[in-house]
Amino acid sequence: MRLSVLSSGSSGNATYVECGGGGLLIDAGLSRRRLEKLLARVGRSLRDVGAVLLTHDHSDHTCGALALSRDRGVPIFAPPGVREGLKGPVSVAAVEAEEPFAIGGMAATFFGVPHDSPTYGVRISGDGRDLAMATDLGEAGSGVIRWMRGTEAAVLEANHDPEWLARGPYAAQLKRRISSPNGHLSNRQAAQAAVSLAPHGLKDLVLAHLSKTNNSPARACGTVHGALREAGYGGVRVRAAIANHPTPWIEVGAPAEPPEYTYRYARGDARGDAAGQLFGIE
Ligand SMILES: [Zn+2]
Ligand SMILES: [Zn+2]
Repeated sequence: MRLSVLSSGSSGNATYVECGGGGLLIDAGLSRRRLEKLLARVGRSLRDVGAVLLTHDHSDHTCGALALSRDRGVPIFAPPGVREGLKGPVSVAAVEAEEPFAIGGMAATFFGVPHDSPTYGVRISGDGRDLAMATDLGEAGSGVIRWMRGTEAAVLEANHDPEWLARGPYAAQLKRRISSPNGHLSNRQAAQAAVSLAPHGLKDLVLAHLSKTNNSPARACGTVHGALREAGYGGVRVRAAIANHPTPWIEVGAPAEPPEYTYRYARGDARGDAAGQLFGIE
């Protein structure tokens, strides 16, 4: 099983997952033309998309779904509360949350996450491997962690740096909405979640839905990887997904870097500090 986050952020979200011969999209929040172009960048086309799974009804996750369903007959799957919010005559297969359903050689399960519309993360199993994705969530509480735990690859929201959001240009009301328990996950919250998932076999973590205004890929990856390293899980590969540039293929379960390759120098240790200064390592 492998995946590429094709595009991520408030301008449009879509993630392509494939296993054996079958492929699917989690969210289709870009025009059909743009989806076609992004798929081509990873060597795939709309013909490879056997289904679309929708996490919630916000247009940055759904706006291309109607065209895929109408023009290409791609089946759309959505859990309760998502279909009802879709605009246009999209025919949607209703699926229950927390119940696995079979799809293109994989099994997918939606689980609820807190956001300002009925919203779900999704866990996918195939080839004996598991991945999970959760973006657009205000908190990653124990319920969310339970659903994501044991996956070897995870796509998790790291929307904003809390200080950048606080100091940034957004109106107070919007700042409150973003940082509320039904808003979007911060880098710090993503780091906490990553530390909870790491001991259970996590190898690849893609940070997603980054704000262009209140975050940067370096800031998000630095915060999350720093926390993982502190906790002794520096071997987890952390990268950020951005808008309109697909991530490289991520092979679910590719071995993590052995821990002995993660050098750490404890502060206050004279030899460590000297080595740290010498090599510019902290
Ligand atoms: Zn969104
Ligand atoms: Zn949303």
